[in-house]
Amino acid sequence: MSKVNELKERLFDVNALNAATAVLDWDHQCYMPDGGNAARAEHGSRLSRMAHEMFVSEETQRTLSEAAKEANGDSEEAAFVRVVQRQMAISTKLPAEFVARKVKRSTEAHEIWVKARKENNFAHFAPALAEMMDLAREEAEYLGYIDHPYDALTDQYEEGATKKSWEAMFDSVRQPLVDLVREINESPNQPDNSFLTGKWEQEDQRKFTEMLVQAIGFDFERGRQDIAAHPFCTNFSVGDVRLTTRYEDYLGSAIFGSLHEAGHGMYEQGSPMEWDRTALAGGVSLGVHESQSRLWENIVGRSRPFWQHFLPQLQGTFPALSNVNLDHFYRGINKVEPTFIRVEADEVTYNLHIMVRFELECALVSGELKVADLPEAWNEKYNSYLGITPTSDSVGCLQDVHWSAALIGYFPTYSKGNLLSYQIWNALQKDIPNTDELMAKGHFKPILDWLIDKIYRHGSRYQPEVLMEMATGERMNPEHYLKGIRAKYAGVYSL
Ligand code: MG
Repeated sequence: MSKVNELKERLFDVNALNAATAVLDWDHQCYMPDGGNAARAEHGSRLSRMAHEMFVSEETQRTLSEAAKEANGDSEEAAFVRVVQRQMAISTKLPAEFVARKVKRSTEAHEIWVKARKENNFAHFAPALAEMMDLAREEAEYLGYIDHPYDALTDQYEEGATKKSWEAMFDSVRQPLVDLVREINESPNQPDNSFLTGKWEQEDQRKFTEMLVQAIGFDFERGRQDIAAHPFCTNFSVGDVRLTTRYEDYLGSAIFGSLHEAGHGMYEQGSPMEWDRTALAGGVSLGVHESQSRLWENIVGRSRPFWQHFLPQLQGTFPALSNVNLDHFYRGINKVEPTFIRVEADEVTYNLHIMVRFELECALVSGELKVADLPEAWNEKYNSYLGITPTSDSVGCLQDVHWSAALIGYFPTYSKGNLLSYQIWNALQKDIPNTDELMAKGHFKPILDWLIDKIYRHGSRYQPEVLMEMATGERMNPEHYLKGIRAKYAGVYSL
């Protein structure tokens, strides 16, 4: 057996443990009764430690260095070895004890956060948050960094990203966005979206959203959709991808939540089957992943041609919408409004929500901002970027799951996804100029096929920047997003 195959074989064991952890986590979020919390934290922590120990074992490290000698050039094998080497470089710096402790403490912190948010009690969450920040600093020290501990943390989610590179990204969009939001707020042509709020049968929402994601290309032979309080997408193999959505009074939650997660899901389903269970399968980075969820949710799913096709079916399922015409509907689903909640934010204000979190988590990690001062700092930033002040911590600094789950350095990847989605769409339109016509006919296959060819089938083979250059002809360029949303919202608001 070649050394590369020997390495693959060893890593299939690690993959099996990780898949088991992922199934337990999916079950935790979708079905598990509360009584399972304590034991599940133990299960996750122990499985993570086992996977970690197996991965960094001397035998795996030796096989990896032998495989590295064997694989060369820009072959698939060489790419596989490079991805494993990067994971190894990160993992060998983290003690197994730390890995297990981080999983256990963050699982517990998550439960504390759920209660604190529900009861609007920041003081209840503050000690757990302080501990998450301690863990983040400890992790950054193990991993090493040159300029800022944040660099070590964020690189794990987006290869090559640093605090500075994120600052440069935000600097390029901050002012144009703040200006656009102000123009939109001042426009006399405000859309109405009240028709989307009502009492909708859960079963109707399930059927409609499943029809929708199947129509754009999500494969139910290799996936399914369930309900979760905070929608997410996970997968256990290329052949088993799980979407989640939620059914609320605001019908958009289910529709756009499902389209968003299906974008993630189709990216995962698009990896070559022969890479299944290896490090090459699956999306290359969180930013590129989010570009796909945002592309399908916003650029496709909030377009006029998309609803030219689907509005009659939506009205068939929900007769209360029969009197809403296409223009009214299109403008309604694209209403821009500064609100407190990130996950409900429109695509114009969304990045402003992210900037708040990015700036605050940098300051929390470095210790410049004390945990106790977070609520006030949060509210001040919402006031300065969005012109609104949260009415409670539940809709303020307690709203997001990330910090309780020790996910620090993660938020900016959402913004990168927003920016890349427009850049990728522009490249797609050069090859397929008639996307409007195709979508209006409900014909999404050419769009999905292009994305599979340029992005999905490459899995994690190329580094994010390399992949973007291959797919779009250039590195990340925020102009595509800025021009794209200006053009779109000039239309919606008659600016
Ligand atoms: Mg997402």
